Amino acid sequence: MSITDRNTKETKIKRSERAALLLSAIVDSSDDAIISKDLNGVVTSWNYSAERLFGYTAEEAIGRTIASLIIPDDRQDEETDILAKLRRGERVDHFETIRRRKDGSLLDISLTISPVKDSTGKIIGASKIARDITEAKRVRAALIESEAQFRQLADAMPQMVWTARPDGQVDYYNQRWYEFTGFSVNADSNWEDIVHPEDLQRTRETWHEALRSGRPYSIEHRLMDRHENRWRWFITRALPVPDAYGRITKWFGTSTDIDEQKRVQEDLRRANADLEQFAYTASHDLQEPLRGIKIYSDLLARRFEGQLEGDALKFVGYLRKSATRMEALVRDLLAYTQSTRLEKPPELTDANVALKAALDNLSSVILETGAQILAGKLPSVCVHSTHLQQLFQNLIGNAIKYRGPEQPPVIRIAAEPHQDGYWIFSVADNGIGIDPQYKEQIFGLFKRLHTSEEYSGTGIGLAICQRIVNQYDGQIWVESELGQGSTFRFTLPR
Ligand code: ADP
Repeated sequence: MSITDRNTKETKIKRSERAALLLSAIVDSSDDAIISKDLNGVVTSWNYSAERLFGYTAEEAIGRTIASLIIPDDRQDEETDILAKLRRGERVDHFETIRRRKDGSLLDISLTISPVKDSTGKIIGASKIARDITEAKRVRAALIESEAQFRQLADAMPQMVWTARPDGQVDYYNQRWYEFTGFSVNADSNWEDIVHPEDLQRTRETWHEALRSGRPYSIEHRLMDRHENRWRWFITRALPVPDAYGRITKWFGTSTDIDEQKRVQEDLRRANADLEQFAYTASHDLQEPLRGIKIYSDLLARRFEGQLEGDALKFVGYLRKSATRMEALVRDLLAYTQSTRLEKPPELTDANVALKAALDNLSSVILETGAQILAGKLPSVCVHSTHLQQLFQNLIGNAIKYRGPEQPPVIRIAAEPHQDGYWIFSVADNGIGIDPQYKEQIFGLFKRLHTSEEYSGTGIGLAICQRIVNQYDGQIWVESELGQGSTFRFTLPR
């Protein structure tokens, strides 16, 4: 034998030794029981996991038959079948069965058995891998149980409930769905078939977007009510259900009937619009005759200045005062109905500019009363500039009007960032203050805490402020104590 031949042979032996060592290390470290047996079912090898799983040591097991060691009495036939299969050279794959431990307890296992052949191809035995599936079976049973509970619960719900796979394919509908749609449980049903054609595209797009982004899905759309043969409004929502790794495994959805709510909302919206139109027309048309009353009562007073006396003079005085008051009322009411009439979407408004415009309009009363206005730097907000100006003008106007008897008014205006992308503005005064029990009432239409003899006014200013702020989903409120000054705050979007 040449040196090269010898080297090659040694290398081959080394390689096969290494492979055997590696194999035995794998077998020993495996979590599965790995057993080999001959064609009579006699154990020829038994790894650590077999020892751990079945309780027999390798010494105890090797040389005995599998049937006598771990197969329960009522399952002895299984081994006969398995051995027959092996003799035919067939495999047994993931066969789920029950085996017995040394202590007599039973365990659920999954078996994979393959025939082992010698170098001539003859079948000489089998290798057997046994996996403990007790835990897996328990988990599977718990899952089946919880799935059953979910279905029971879902079927009892008045809403339509459904689940979908991560790709959007709906894989479950509850009982209510079948009742509402009239689809049969066994037939393939597609939700798209009951969505109003005008809502279908929007529904599809929103659903696909939710699936793509993994964010919750929510949409209002009309679905066909089979019983009443008409469309009903529904709100359909779905939440992604992630696994422990954050991957979406399922979507859980509901469709809730909001038809009645929608109808009431629409009626209310229409009624409000009618009322607003009425208030607008009434206050607008009232201006004309009112102007007549004012002009002629003024004329009467001026022309017949010398001739009127006693009651006649007094009555003309009342007439003029009432006409002036009514004029203010009609003007403010008109301002109220118009306060949300701006059609254009709001622009970004610099609050410093809006404040300046409001202060310009109030300049004479500021001068008269010696009011001091202290304003910090204000932000820009996403509202119509006229609205912001109106807010400042009403609140600062009130702060001056309801000033304290002793000191001149000092008014502080500030803004700071608020939650959810809003700014919170404040207008604080050192005036007469407000009894806290009225702090909500004063925002109502025509609500006043004083007579017009004490303070002029119509009780509409704060109602306008509230209406404006609400239009931007903001809020307005006051913090005050009688005699302690008042701080009005309102929120507006950035
Ligand atoms: P008006 O000022 O025309 O009466 P508003 O709607 O502006 O109407 O205000 C409603 C009421 O709230 C006022 O009548 C007044 O009693 C009270 N009020 C408003 N602002 C202040 C303020 N800064 N200080 C004290 N009271 C105020």
